[in-house]
Amino acid sequence: MTIGWAELLLAIAWIGPFTFAGFFTLIERKYPDGQYPKESHVKVNFLFGGMTALISFCFLQTMQDSIGATMSVFDFVDFSDPVLPEILHYSLCFLFIDFVYYAQHRLSHHISLLWRLHKVHHGDDRVTASTSLVHHPLEAIFVSATAFSIYVLVNMPLGVILSYGAVNAVHVAFVHSNITMPRRLEWSLSKIIYTPRLHKIHHSIRMDEGNSNFGMIFVIWDQMLRSWRSSACVSHEALQMGIEDFKHPRWNMTKLLLLPFK
Ligand SMILES: [Zn+2]
Repeated sequence: MTIGWAELLLAIAWIGPFTFAGFFTLIERKYPDGQYPKESHVKVNFLFGGMTALISFCFLQTMQDSIGATMSVFDFVDFSDPVLPEILHYSLCFLFIDFVYYAQHRLSHHISLLWRLHKVHHGDDRVTASTSLVHHPLEAIFVSATAFSIYVLVNMPLGVILSYGAVNAVHVAFVHSNITMPRRLEWSLSKIIYTPRLHKIHHSIRMDEGNSNFGMIFVIWDQMLRSWRSSACVSHEALQMGIEDFKHPRWNMTKLLLLPFK
C-alpha cells in the first residue's frame, strides 16, 4: 500500500496532536495554572478539532495527486540528497520546516483574509491544551496544502517531515496547556523553544502582544526577524487572552465555523 501525503498529513497534523492534547488536558486538570475552564468548553474544542481534521483530510485526499503531479515538474532543489554531513543536513531540513510554519503563521496575522480564518484559533479566551486543536477547516486546508506543496517542491525527506510532526505534536499541546511548571525550568527552555508562558503572549487580547512570538517550536525565527517578545516584558497576571471583537462568546461549533464570515 502506498501512503499518500493526505494520509501522512492526517497522521502528523491530527492524530499526534489529538493524543497529546488529551494527555496535557489530563495534566492541566490536575495542576492548573489558575482557574480551569468549563468542561463543555474543552469538549467543544475537541469536537471542533475533530470536524476540522475530517474536512481537511477529505479535501486534501482528493487533491493530493494533482498537487504531487504539478510540483514534480519543478526541479529547483533536492533536500533528499545530503551535501553536508547527514546529521547537519537533516537538522537543517528540520529547521526549514519550522521556518515554513513560522512564515505561514506570521502571514496569517498580516493578510486580512488569512487573519479572518486564523482568529478562530485566537478566539479562545481560556487557552488550554484543547485550544491547540481549534483551527477553522479552511485554515487547516490552506496551511496543510501550502506546507506540503513546499515539501514536494524541495523533495523534503519523509523521515524529517514525520520527525517534525512527532515533535510538534507534543510541543503544540504543551505550549497551549494551562499548567504550572517550575519557573526556572520554563526560563531555561525558553532560551531555545516556546513554552506555555511565551506562547500565551501570542494569544494576548492586545494585538501589539498578539503580533509577536509566531514561532512553532524554536524561538530563533522570532528573535532573528524582530517579532520576539520575552516573558519579562509582559505582566502575566494581567494578561487577557482572546480577541477583542469575539469576547465572551457562547462557545459553540456553529459560531466558530461562521466567525470568519461575520
Ligand atoms: Zn496566531
